[in-house]
Amino acid sequence: MQHVDAGMETTDVVIVGSGFGGLAAAKQLSKSGVDYVLISATPEHLFQPLLYQVATGVLPSTDIAPPIASILRRHKGGDVRLGKVVDIDAEAAVLTYDTEQGPRQIRYGSLIAATGATQSYFGRDDFADKTFSLKTIDDAKLLRAQIERVFAEASKADPETRERLLSFVVVGAGPTGVEVAGQLKELSKRHFHQEISVTLVEGAGAVLPPFGGSLSKYARESLTRNGVEVLLDTFVTDIEAGKVTVKTKDGVERGIGAETVVWSAGVAAGGFAKLLAEATGCETDRAGRLLINPDCTVGGHADIFAIGDMTSLNGYPGQSPTAMQEGRHVADIIRRDKQPGTPFVYWDKGSMAVISTFSAVTKLNDRVKFTGTIAWITWLAVHLFYLVGFRNRFTAVLSWLVAFIGTGRPGFDEEETKPVADSPAHRRQAA
Ligand SMILES: Cc1cc2nc3c(=O)[nH]c(=O)nc-3n(C[C@H](O)[C@H](O)[C@H](O)COP(=O)(O)OP(=O)(O)OC[C@H]3O[C@@H](n4cnc5c(N)ncnc54)[C@H](O)[C@@H]3O)c2cc1C
Repeated sequence: MQHVDAGMETTDVVIVGSGFGGLAAAKQLSKSGVDYVLISATPEHLFQPLLYQVATGVLPSTDIAPPIASILRRHKGGDVRLGKVVDIDAEAAVLTYDTEQGPRQIRYGSLIAATGATQSYFGRDDFADKTFSLKTIDDAKLLRAQIERVFAEASKADPETRERLLSFVVVGAGPTGVEVAGQLKELSKRHFHQEISVTLVEGAGAVLPPFGGSLSKYARESLTRNGVEVLLDTFVTDIEAGKVTVKTKDGVERGIGAETVVWSAGVAAGGFAKLLAEATGCETDRAGRLLINPDCTVGGHADIFAIGDMTSLNGYPGQSPTAMQEGRHVADIIRRDKQPGTPFVYWDKGSMAVISTFSAVTKLNDRVKFTGTIAWITWLAVHLFYLVGFRNRFTAVLSWLVAFIGTGRPGFDEEETKPVADSPAHRRQAA
C-alpha cells in the first residue's frame, strides 16, 4: 500500500528497472495484489534481443519498445514512474530518484533492483566515442542512421570512396555480433545491392563461445560462406578514424579499414549496481555485477533483492530467461508464495542465436542441438512469443515477411520523432 509517512512516500515494494527482470517481478506481484511502484529511467520496455533488427531496418523501433504503462495496465497494484534512481539509504530503506520535476524520495518495504548492464570497453572507454553499440533504442537508431548514410553516400561515390564507406568491423562474436555481421551482409546483398566488407573480431578461439563445438563451427562456416571475414583469437588494440588495429594472440598486428565499428564485446554493471554495492557492502565481480546471495538478496539485507544482468549468481547466463525467472522468484518470496531465503534455481531451457536468414543455431542441452532453417524458424517463433503485445507481434510478422521473404526493410521507413543524436561517425567527420 502507498501512503505518506512522516512526510515521506512509502510503499510495500519498489521495483527499479523496466527490463525483463523488473517486468516479470511486477506481473508476478500483481497476482497477489501486492502494491508496488516501478521506477524506470526509460518509459518503455525494451526487447533487446531484437535491437539488431531495428539497426538493420528489419523492424521499426516501436515494435520492440512498447510503453511500460500500457503493458502493466491490466496488472493490478502497480504505479509506474519515469525516473532515474540516483541514491539509496539501505538502513533507512529510502531511494532517491531524479524526475523531470526534480528529485523525489520513496521508502520501500522491499526493493527489487533490476537495472541491467551497460557496454564494457575493457578499460578503453575512449572506444565508446568511436564505435556504435546496441544497448538502447537510441543506439539502434543511431546505427541504423549510420548504415543508411554510408549506403546512400556510397551509391554516388567513386570506387575508392565506396570501398572505404562500405567497410564494417564488428567487435565481439557473441550472439549480438554474429547477428549484426550476418544481417549487414544480407542487407548489402538483398536490399542495397552493393558489395561491402564485414570483419568480425573475436578474442576467444570460437564464434559464439558459450555454444562451442559443432554449433560454433557451423556459425563460423555460415558467416564465412556469406562473405564475413572472421578473426578469432584476435583483440582490438586501437580504434582511430576509419581504422581498427587488431592483434592476434601470437602478437601479429594489422590495421583494418572501417568506416563503421560496432562494439558488442562485453557487459559491465555500473550505475545503480555500484550504488547498491557501496550502500550494502555487497561484493561485485570484475564486471561490477553484484555477487548476490542464493535467494537473490543483497549483502545482509533481507529486504533488498537484485536480479538479472546487474548480478552474478552460480554462473547463470546474463540472458533474459535468467532475469525473468529471478524476477518471478523474488516476487514469490515477497508475496509469501515461497519461504524467505529460498535459493533461486535456474531452469535452462536452452540457447539460440541467429546468423542470417534461414541460418541459426539452437542448443537445448548438450545432446539436443540443431542448426539451419529449423533453428531459424524456432528462433523467430520463440522471440515472437516473448515479444510484448498482440499488435507488436502482428506487425513484426508482417515486417519479417517483407524483409526475409521479400527484400524490403520496413524499419528504414520509420519516421524519426526526434533528431538522431550525435553519432561516432559524425563526430569523426567533424574532427
Ligand atoms: C543487443 C542485445 C541482444 C540480446 N539478445 C538476447 C537473446 O537473444 N536472448 C536472451 O536471452 N538475451 C539476450 N540479451 C540479453 C538480455 O536482453 C538481458 O539479459 C536482459 O535484458 C536482462 O534483463 P534485466 O531486467 O536485468 O535488464 P534490462 O532488460 O537491461 O533492463 C534494465 C532496466 O533498468 C532501467 N534502469 C537502469 N538504470 C536505472 C536507474 N538508475 N534508475 C531507474 N531505472 C534504471 C533501464 O531503463 C531498463 O528499463 C541481449 C542483450 C542485448 C543488449
